[in-house]
Amino acid sequence: MKLPDQIFKQAADNALDVIMITAVDFDDPGNNTIVYVNDAFVELFGYSKQEIIGQSPRVLQGPNTDPATRDKIRAALTQGLPVTSEIINYGKHGQEFWIDLKMVPLFNSDNEITHFLFIERDLSSRKNREQQLYQEATIDGLTQIYNRQHTYQLAAKAIEKASRYKSPLCALLLDIDHFKQVNDNFGHVVGDKVLKKLAQLITQEVRSSDIFGRVGGEEFFILLPEVPLEQAQVFAERVRARVHAATWEEAGLSTALSISVGVAEFDNDHLESLISKADHALYQAKNLGRNRVESFKEAK
Ligand code: GH3
Ligand code: MG
Ligand code: MG
Repeated sequence: MKLPDQIFKQAADNALDVIMITAVDFDDPGNNTIVYVNDAFVELFGYSKQEIIGQSPRVLQGPNTDPATRDKIRAALTQGLPVTSEIINYGKHGQEFWIDLKMVPLFNSDNEITHFLFIERDLSSRKNREQQLYQEATIDGLTQIYNRQHTYQLAAKAIEKASRYKSPLCALLLDIDHFKQVNDNFGHVVGDKVLKKLAQLITQEVRSSDIFGRVGGEEFFILLPEVPLEQAQVFAERVRARVHAATWEEAGLSTALSISVGVAEFDNDHLESLISKADHALYQAKNLGRNRVESFKEAK
């Protein structure tokens, strides 16, 4: 038994997914006009049916809509092909939505494409959740810089690249001197604030291509791609001096703070051995009195 059109229309009206139908302009096949939207469309995008019908579906696109995805959809429209994609669409008031889009051509009884059906699902909450999960997995909660796992993951990639292109690279390990005393004398809360401020201060010294992260309680790691040893030593010395010259009163610490730094130059090592060389140099810096920079030297 053939279902009457009225029944189909009510089904579409009540679907939870957004449904939009456009009519093809035969003089300009890439150009379409919206002829139907369901209630979910009105609810998500905020246009009334009267406002949106007659418009081009392009009104749903905006500055963050990926141009490649937009081109893919336009090509499918002109070629009369189905397409599925994730795309950013915009509501009436400029709200951004990540949309899971399925677009299919609709045929008349002569097998000509007269319309396109767009079925769209709002992915924003999933995308936000993904972004939040990524943030939690990569960023240290206290200092808001990379956590240990992500720092070393990025460092391993940078090492691979240095190895492939035979370019220089240095690794630095930084450890706060006598940090236990900061906690003992001023309390853990002050200690935490100092860690935060120290991370901010070092962030100002590194370039965007450097990798900087918190790899231990009060231990930090910096990887300098394309930087040979002498330059890394100068950089480390600048960071050390800056930390020593800084005041920490806003964190509640009335004394000076110092760090020790171990520097190691990449010599076709794996990440682990590069870290262990930097750690070795750091140990030297601690032994030689702290508040200083030491570099790893190969035992002859
Ligand atoms: P050294 O000069 O030899 O490095 O002495 P140190 O006291 O800094 O010793 P160590 O490097 O072993 O520091 C570990 C101390 O760092 C222990 C703990 O009190 C402190 N610490 C580690 N993580 C945190 C943190 O997240 N918050 C605070 N407030 N303190 C931390
Ligand atoms: Mg330590
Ligand atoms: Mg320490």
